[in-house]
Amino acid sequence: MGVNFTPEEGCVLYRLWADSTNDIILKTDCSGNIVNASPALERWPFASVNGLFGRHILDLVHPSRCAAVMAAHESVIAGRQDGGWIEFPARSVDGPERWFEIQLRCLIADGGAIQGAVSIVRSIQERRTFEERLFVAAMTDTLTGLTNRSAFVSMLQHLVEAKAGGCLAMFDIDHFKAINMRYGHTVGDQLLIAFSEFIRAFAGSGDIISRIGGESFGILFANTGIEPAEAICRRIVGALGETGGATGGEGLPITVSAGLTPIALSLDDTIKAAELALTVAKAKGRNRLEVDRGLPVYLVRATKTG
Ligand code: GH3
Ligand code: MG
Repeated sequence: MGVNFTPEEGCVLYRLWADSTNDIILKTDCSGNIVNASPALERWPFASVNGLFGRHILDLVHPSRCAAVMAAHESVIAGRQDGGWIEFPARSVDGPERWFEIQLRCLIADGGAIQGAVSIVRSIQERRTFEERLFVAAMTDTLTGLTNRSAFVSMLQHLVEAKAGGCLAMFDIDHFKAINMRYGHTVGDQLLIAFSEFIRAFAGSGDIISRIGGESFGILFANTGIEPAEAICRRIVGALGETGGATGGEGLPITVSAGLTPIALSLDDTIKAAELALTVAKAKGRNRLEVDRGLPVYLVRATKTG
């Protein structure tokens, strides 16, 4: 059953809704100047709420999204009504980034002339925060707090595409199954956490450490040549071998094997080279680093194109 309102009732209903909702109703002229706004505008920390009237709709929008919002405004003024919601971060005073979405419709006067646009602006910060948390959770290894394999592969792919050099190291704890069998899975877990902290102490702030498997870890050395990366990896393997597992706090004999390679022209080639070097380190007796120096990227490129 439909509910019909007289224009007067509609006005009262609109006032009731506009006064109580956190959604903002904006009326703009054909150029985007704000000519009217509902009270909710005052409740959000936009940079230019004071003395808003006479301001422009883009005064509410972070510069990174001004072009998109202006294009949508121009589109409705041109008579196209099909625009959906557009997400944008607010131009805020100096607080944290806060996200909104806006939907616009053309405002046509009685005579049929286009007067401007009417918009609804609403906060989507809760949704964005939730999405960001989900994204971070999907990229994080729950045991160690390091980035996980999926994040690691994405970051390596990015470095491969950037063609900016760098190196990949893979570490695998030796005889970890035996440690689990002897001391129990809980101690094994504690060792994995301790090892992740141990390895973090050696890597630089720009290096990315991930847990890429059960007892396997990767370091992406962005913008680092093979010699400095090798020096860091040797320190990790050597220090762990010397302390004989002091990381576990229980004197457990942990050692680690590692494979290191420069980042190649493809993700698969890079991972394969590092895994091969790691396999050789295991085969040679573990507790050591093997380096696959590969070909410098410019030579590989010349080989593939020539
Ligand atoms: P290698 O020196 O050849 O690497 O021998 P390894 O025993 O370390 O390797 P293997 O692949 O045979 O066994 C890996 C073990 O790691 C088996 C599995 O129980 C253990 N592991 C994998 N993930 C976890 C984890 O999250 N916690 C614990 N405690 N153990 C794990
Ligand atoms: Mg192992």
